[in-house]
Amino acid sequence: MKKRNISKSLAVINSFLFLMILSLQIQKLEENQKKESASEAMMMEEDEQLKTEENSDMKPKIALTFDDGPHPVYTPMLLEGLQERRVNATFFLIGKNIEGNEEIVKQMAEQGNLIGNHTYNHVKVSELSAKEACEEMMMTSELVEQITGEATCYIRPPFGVWDDSLDCEIDMISVKWTIDPLDWTTKNVSEVVEKVVTHAEENDIILLHDCYESSVQAALQIVDRLQAEGFEFVTVDQLILE
Ligand SMILES: [Zn+2]
Repeated sequence: MKKRNISKSLAVINSFLFLMILSLQIQKLEENQKKESASEAMMMEEDEQLKTEENSDMKPKIALTFDDGPHPVYTPMLLEGLQERRVNATFFLIGKNIEGNEEIVKQMAEQGNLIGNHTYNHVKVSELSAKEACEEMMMTSELVEQITGEATCYIRPPFGVWDDSLDCEIDMISVKWTIDPLDWTTKNVSEVVEKVVTHAEENDIILLHDCYESSVQAALQIVDRLQAEGFEFVTVDQLILE
């Protein structure tokens, strides 16, 4: 009788142990499965990221540039439109126009736009002495640096006239353009849009002026049309340096 009881209780303990080991193993299995599906999800996420990066690499790049600003009314209008479209542009600022419009320049930089130099008084660099020409650029660059914390080394020389032999304290990179719709000669928005959109090709640099309402409206329509065609808008440093 006693022996039977002992073997009975041993059997109970055995099956109890068996169940415990079984449940532990099931738990382990479930944990492993969880780990596997988590790492699968991570790998899929990485794949997606790579795909979007590839896509943006494959898109033809194009740059919008604006001369003669900042303008107290039209530049903020343009900045708002660009932000809505998640687009960055390059602004070549006239130094004397910056004074009183510092907040606009700050916002320009904060949104990720590139700021360039267009001299202080909108002068023909070639008609000045080297010292005067350098001063024109230094004054504008210093103003930009005071506002944004960063000096600018990109210059769009007014009237497109540049002197490569100029040796100023700061090295300047002159930035020309490839599409000029002469936006300042007309108030006809669609005329400007058509001139740009029909000529636009990869790596083009579009020249506009953010001191006219019609140019700002044209610029935003140009962005909508060219984005629909698959173009990606970048700042000029991204075109020049790549
Ligand atoms: Zn100009």
